[in-house]
Amino acid sequence: MEILDEIYKQLKQEDRIKECFYVTDLGVCPRKVIMDFGDYKKKPLTNAERLMFHKAESDHREMATLLNYSNRYSIMKQEMSINDGLPEMWHGRLDCLVYDLQLNEMFPVDWKGTRSLKYQVELPKANHVLQVKCYIWALYQMNYPVNKGKLIYTDRTGSYDGMEFEVDGDIRELSPLMQVYEVAYRIYEQDKTLPNMLPRIIKQIKDEYYLIPDWQCGYCKYQGLSCKPNMSKNKIAEIKDNKLVMRKGYEEYEKHITSKKVEEDDFITFCNQGV
Ligand code: SF4
Repeated sequence: MEILDEIYKQLKQEDRIKECFYVTDLGVCPRKVIMDFGDYKKKPLTNAERLMFHKAESDHREMATLLNYSNRYSIMKQEMSINDGLPEMWHGRLDCLVYDLQLNEMFPVDWKGTRSLKYQVELPKANHVLQVKCYIWALYQMNYPVNKGKLIYTDRTGSYDGMEFEVDGDIRELSPLMQVYEVAYRIYEQDKTLPNMLPRIIKQIKDEYYLIPDWQCGYCKYQGLSCKPNMSKNKIAEIKDNKLVMRKGYEEYEKHITSKKVEEDDFITFCNQGV
């Protein structure tokens, strides 16, 4: 493995403790985002994952190069730091700022690699839309006349199919959402209190009800280590094994939701109502 070891050494190390928020944090579990500021036990990225991220970045650069050959679009900036247009503590890096020569307008483009595009039923993902809205906002603050953006997904598992979505410039939800993380960070700084775990949802399996953790937990590097939300890769099997525990949890959850209405689009409520 000598050659592969040398290649892996060149890959970016992503496991550093972070010192600021990134626009990619928007929509992510606040507990996870705050834990990234501390030295919590987590699963390290594997070499294969680091290679995959590296490959995705070079695919996106390649697509931008191809786009630049077109007669209609021109790339104004690539991998652009947009910190100046964001509130203090927030950082971002935009994939591309594109100019449409036909419509005489510019807009940010964010590329996303995804698995098995044809099975993805919830595209564009809400957190990706928020991220692009953030770029629109930041660019506007930096005096770039933008009022829309684009999200482009490509399948990185072989088919290379793609999908394109337009994101509007309505940025009203951004400030309150950013505040969720900023407040969580201030509380953490005071006494190391972490935000609640994500709320679990109720799922009915035959005649029984089970509490299932949020899908984000299944992909979280802290899950099962610094944060234990009762979840393994095989969610249903594990929950069946702990049926009594989970049913007790369900009763608690039922009490919780009858005392407090859960608004799906109210992210602040969503983040602070841990079960
Ligand atoms: S395991 Fe779930 S609740 Fe815990 S930090 Fe990760 S995403 Fe958040």
